[in-house]
Amino acid sequence: MALTGVEIFKLLPKTNCKKCGHPTCLAFAMKLAQRQATLDSCPDVSEEAKKVLGEASAPPVRPMTFGAGDKAVKMGEETVLFRHDKKFVNPCAFAVEIKDTLSEADIAAIAEEVVKSEIDRVGQKLRIDAIALTNASGDAGKLEAAAKTVAAKAAGVPVIINTQNTQAAEAAVKVFSDKRPLIYGATAANFEAMANIAKANKAILGVGASGLDELSTLTDKIKGLGVEDMVIDSGARKAKEIIENNTLIRRAAIKKNFKPLGFPIINFIQREDSLHEALLGVIAITKYASIVVLSSIEKWKNLALFTLRQNIYTDPQVPMQVEQKVYPIGEPKPESPLFITTNFSLTYFIVSGEIENSKVASRLAVMDCEGLSVLTAWAAGKFTASKIAQFITESGVEKDIATKELIIPGYVAILSGSIEDKLPGWKITVGPREANAIPAFLRSRG
Ligand code: SF4
Repeated sequence: MALTGVEIFKLLPKTNCKKCGHPTCLAFAMKLAQRQATLDSCPDVSEEAKKVLGEASAPPVRPMTFGAGDKAVKMGEETVLFRHDKKFVNPCAFAVEIKDTLSEADIAAIAEEVVKSEIDRVGQKLRIDAIALTNASGDAGKLEAAAKTVAAKAAGVPVIINTQNTQAAEAAVKVFSDKRPLIYGATAANFEAMANIAKANKAILGVGASGLDELSTLTDKIKGLGVEDMVIDSGARKAKEIIENNTLIRRAAIKKNFKPLGFPIINFIQREDSLHEALLGVIAITKYASIVVLSSIEKWKNLALFTLRQNIYTDPQVPMQVEQKVYPIGEPKPESPLFITTNFSLTYFIVSGEIENSKVASRLAVMDCEGLSVLTAWAAGKFTASKIAQFITESGVEKDIATKELIIPGYVAILSGSIEDKLPGWKITVGPREANAIPAFLRSRG
């Protein structure tokens, strides 16, 4: 069970030295209990207290990194049941299945598709994150050969070695040594041997069971064998089972701090029918999966699942915003137009996208309005004539442009006169209300 603030306080030095940034040890203890601080902020905590508190203050869903390098995927670390309570921390990873019964050319083709799956959406890179290499042949040699093809064609992509055959797992895991692969996995029948393979190869161990009782018994035993990093599969395959089991696992981890289920969840949702698969993906993403295994890469399916994942894992307390500055779009010359908008990410990406579509090189001045859109920022007094004038003056854009003309969003046409008053020598032009009218607007200017 999680410790209370007072229980934590008893283990702290009680000197109120403030080095942790809190006025008293009690205040720090309260923050620790709410998981709003971490123990390493107190430099004077004893080793004994570290041991007790380290375990108690660890996130209820164990954090771990799957894969290595810049494509590594962080998992776990979740602390809430509902996104609006705080935020969901690490977006779930999508893995596409590759069976070792496919020809080498087909395996290579899917691996290359994974590498090319990345899209840019609202400034974030979204992609199929991993490959689940399935030992459908049951043959260790075939799995190893497929592993080598995947390693060559999709270097750096995290890999799940999907086999319950210990010999096959051992042969394939060596191909990804130092790449922190995931072996899926351990069952009641093979867990001792699988635990040894995972330990020897510093791999994460996927643990599969039929139901939560069997699963928690198994993770406990595996932990006893010295494996800490596990991902868990309750055996849920149908929509209803995924909702039920994933919810029970998350609740046990968060509400009861029940360590045997405090691990990232893996859901296998492969289906012949892509629509059915996409629907199961939606359920897995919204209900706590850390890894979702898909049967294929289809762009429409990716887009739907990527977008949902991005929305679910966006911090609801922080508006998505971009940095305040003057962005060049294309290669603007001194006579190129200068637009202004606010720094809400979506506004920025839509406006800059439409300017790009117009093929007219421009400058886009993006003003910090705490991540609010144009109308909201104007209504909140953050996108006013004096603030716009101050920003434009301080940005120094004037020295880069031939004509002092600023194009403002049509929604704040009302500001044009007062901006002209506050920016002497500037011409203020009212642009379109909607970004999709920007290309026509630019064309009409010749
Ligand atoms: Fe107490 Fe440690 Fe914070 Fe000092 S740094 S006030 S000892 S909790």
